[in-house]
Amino acid sequence: MNIRTITETAIHALDHAASKAGNTVFKAKPSLMIFVFHGLFINSAEIEKNLVDPQQNVTVDGFRKFVEYFYYRKYSFVSPEDILNGLDNGISHIMITFDDGYYNNIRALPILREFKIPAVFFITTNNVKHNTSFWWDIIYRENRKRGVGLDKIAAEEQLLKKKTVKQIKEYIHDKYGRGAFNPVGDTDRPFTPEELKKFSEQDFVSLGNHTSDHAILTGYPPGQICARITEAQSYLHGLTGKWPAIISYPNGSHSPKVTDVSRELGLHLGVTLEEKKNLLPLVKIKNKIALGRFFLLGGRDINRQCDILCSDIMLYIRLKNILKTFIPFLFSPHICFDKDKK
Ligand SMILES: [Zn+2]
Repeated sequence: MNIRTITETAIHALDHAASKAGNTVFKAKPSLMIFVFHGLFINSAEIEKNLVDPQQNVTVDGFRKFVEYFYYRKYSFVSPEDILNGLDNGISHIMITFDDGYYNNIRALPILREFKIPAVFFITTNNVKHNTSFWWDIIYRENRKRGVGLDKIAAEEQLLKKKTVKQIKEYIHDKYGRGAFNPVGDTDRPFTPEELKKFSEQDFVSLGNHTSDHAILTGYPPGQICARITEAQSYLHGLTGKWPAIISYPNGSHSPKVTDVSRELGLHLGVTLEEKKNLLPLVKIKNKIALGRFFLLGGRDINRQCDILCSDIMLYIRLKNILKTFIPFLFSPHICFDKDKK
């Protein structure tokens, strides 16, 4: 165990004790808590195949534990439509979101049906259209095949995030060959267009915009931001007949320029990767177009993480948010959220 792990473990323990005590004494303020998920794994054996960057390492069982935690505590599960229609400001709500458009997200459907709760699935449309693997999964998979360590992989992903989508594609093509873009199976592949259309027709499912190519929008001029969001809107509308009302900014990266363009294109809601509760009422537009989201880690006790997030103390997240301001690269998404597990 290194110093960072020891410190984190100590803060988590303190956080959990404080939240347990706090939850019995203080009632948390009513809020909308949004959770982000990515791929949903059958079990840990699937994760250990190293076919994709496991990110949060969440299995179907872990997802069920998360749902049960809030369901049995009588939280209200809401969809983007519910938010737009106005939430009951006296109680707390949960919105479930999945980013990217992994086919394996269909594994959530039986649980959504069982508990009758909605979820939003944010789709990167070019991956669906062209049936290509997500670039971070290719980097992870190819490097693991070659025995490269996790820190090096994370560093390579960070470096690539500074490039344009076109440059990333060229990099992968030159280093790993054209075949690297081909998905290897249900673990890593995106939905096919037909599957996505059918999926979008299911009860409890709604789709959201995750841009056409997962470009980190803050690095592009307004015209190109607009093109990427519009292309995804049109594609999803063409496929499903519905216009998404919500966007998930790739990498969580947003700026006033990005949120302005999104709103001008008819997206009324936007989600980020800022770990925060969205306190009710959501009165200001800026609160709706840059909503905070939490992520859970499959390698750790799900109930314990939920206990911490239920309270308003959230010591670890508060500390992390302060540190993020100074060393943002340590907390960037799509680079192995859950290092403990691997
Ligand atoms: Zn994403």
